[in-house]
Amino acid sequence: MPDATYDAIVIGGGHNGLCTAAYLARAGLKVGVFERRHEEGGGAHTEEATVPGFWHNLHAQYMEFIDYMPFYHDFELPKFGARMIKPEAQVGIAFADGRPPLVIYTPEFEDRTYKSIAQFSKHDAEVFTEVRRKVLAKDQYLAAMLYTPPPDESRSETAGAIAGKLFELWMELGFKPGELQKSPKVLIDDLFESTEMRAVMYRQCIEWGSNLHSGNGVGFIISVIWLCGIHYMAVGGTHTLAHAMASAALHEGVDLRYNAPVTQILTTNNHTTGVRLKDGRVIEAKIVASNADPRTTFMDMIGWDKLSLFRKERLANWRFGPEHVLGTPSFALHEPPDYKSAKRDPAINKCFYTIVGFENAQEVNNYIEQAYGSRVPETPGAGTWVNTLWDPSQAPPGKHAMNGWFFFPKASSLTPAEWDDVRSTYNSRFLSLWARYAPNMTRENVIAEKLYVPFDIEKKIGMPEGDFSHGRPGSMVLGVPRAYSYRTEIEGLYMCGASAGGGGLSAAPGYNAFKVIADDNGLAKVWQREDRIY
Ligand SMILES: Cc1cc2nc3c(=O)[nH]c(=O)nc-3n(C[C@H](O)[C@H](O)[C@H](O)COP(=O)(O)OP(=O)(O)OC[C@H]3O[C@@H](n4cnc5c(N)ncnc54)[C@H](O)[C@@H]3O)c2cc1C
Repeated sequence: MPDATYDAIVIGGGHNGLCTAAYLARAGLKVGVFERRHEEGGGAHTEEATVPGFWHNLHAQYMEFIDYMPFYHDFELPKFGARMIKPEAQVGIAFADGRPPLVIYTPEFEDRTYKSIAQFSKHDAEVFTEVRRKVLAKDQYLAAMLYTPPPDESRSETAGAIAGKLFELWMELGFKPGELQKSPKVLIDDLFESTEMRAVMYRQCIEWGSNLHSGNGVGFIISVIWLCGIHYMAVGGTHTLAHAMASAALHEGVDLRYNAPVTQILTTNNHTTGVRLKDGRVIEAKIVASNADPRTTFMDMIGWDKLSLFRKERLANWRFGPEHVLGTPSFALHEPPDYKSAKRDPAINKCFYTIVGFENAQEVNNYIEQAYGSRVPETPGAGTWVNTLWDPSQAPPGKHAMNGWFFFPKASSLTPAEWDDVRSTYNSRFLSLWARYAPNMTRENVIAEKLYVPFDIEKKIGMPEGDFSHGRPGSMVLGVPRAYSYRTEIEGLYMCGASAGGGGLSAAPGYNAFKVIADDNGLAKVWQREDRIY
């Protein structure tokens, strides 16, 4: 006898699992979410990482999909406590040699972005402005691409139509069909001539998990230029967004259980029948959606022996890292950084995301290649955030909480002892570098600091190798590698996390998984709205 029965079970209460669960409940199903940890959100995570009173986002810092995310709007997340701020100066790079910074603003400040880029190249300013205008004019199709399952999974005509619109956009941008295969680096170098602009764009490859040197340059160019000026921050820390998502799901009737790791997905004759929890309880349901990564889902929870040859090969070729692996330095500060570049343009001191430690594009390229080569980059350049500049609630009065991103090799590249060494030395090396860009970043300005590495991400959040997209398919012999896969070959089992539809706090995989489940099970299309094409 089962210990409990639901219509649908979601394994994991990451933001995607919560999204799938909330829509399933809205469609009338009795839904249980079983989360391994004591709190929801997965990578939407905030804690007092340095000293009490200073709140640090250890994973996701910025939310770039808020304007488009159906989960946010359909469930009115602000009513459940989600609060967002959109800083004007969005992405910037500071230089140590007295050059002005390069700053990209939100689209309504197009002239300021133009002026900032034009300091280095009028050509680059014109290209960026033109590309961004054209991309933003098609933003609904870009959003639709994200929030629609791929054609063979959605069984709708929309997915094919959207692909056509995006191809049109590519042509409008002046590219040729053959250039779809070019790498991000080749396309960036084709578009922009200044080393400053290239440095910003190369660094964005890290943020977006794109391989600088191979594949999908088209996605990178369109998506990055679309998204790099529309980032939001969550007031109170990123976890407040996850909390609002969980509250909305609970309000919808979802039964959300914490400290409840799932160890097994139960099947009979290739049909899902439910799950077994770590404490031995059996929970029954005909529909199971997994927010965990594919390795955990199929190898640990289903078992190698029960997998089809296709799935075995897909798993054998599943690749964690190197593109999606970051480490997070956290600093509790007396005062925020005051950059040398601010003498030329003070906006850099109040920029949401500031790149520090690179003087040119070649240095960013070297840094990225070292991490691809399983090495911790020699020069500890970082992307940095000081969220207390906008939201003082994240630190004691007058003080500041900073976080950053180092691009690191995947967790298994180093031994635990080597990661210990990185943890205890790398932030100090970064601080020395930081002081070359912002002279007030001395040891005296630092109240406390901590470094969180891919090894910790794997242990704490369960992202294998620290890969924030839960991996990606590599080359395959038997099948076609696909980036997306919501339906599985086991009836009733679906994937609803980052591995199915891409990383980032988009809630797209969770939303698309629900659409596929609804399609298979004749559920009400509760996502449909007249003012939305996806
Ligand atoms: C350092 C870092 C910085 C990042 N910065 C950003 C950013 O600024 N903006 C952005 O949009 N994205 C960012 N990301 C990416 C983002 O955090 C992830 O892509 C996102 O969290 C994936 O969401 P998810 O819900 O699919 O999976 P996860 O967040 O990984 O959640 C999965 C959930 O499933 C649970 N789970 C796993 N196994 C089990 C089990 N057996 N039983 C029960 N529960 C289980 C986990 O505990 C977890 O709660 C960052 C990631 C990292 C690591």
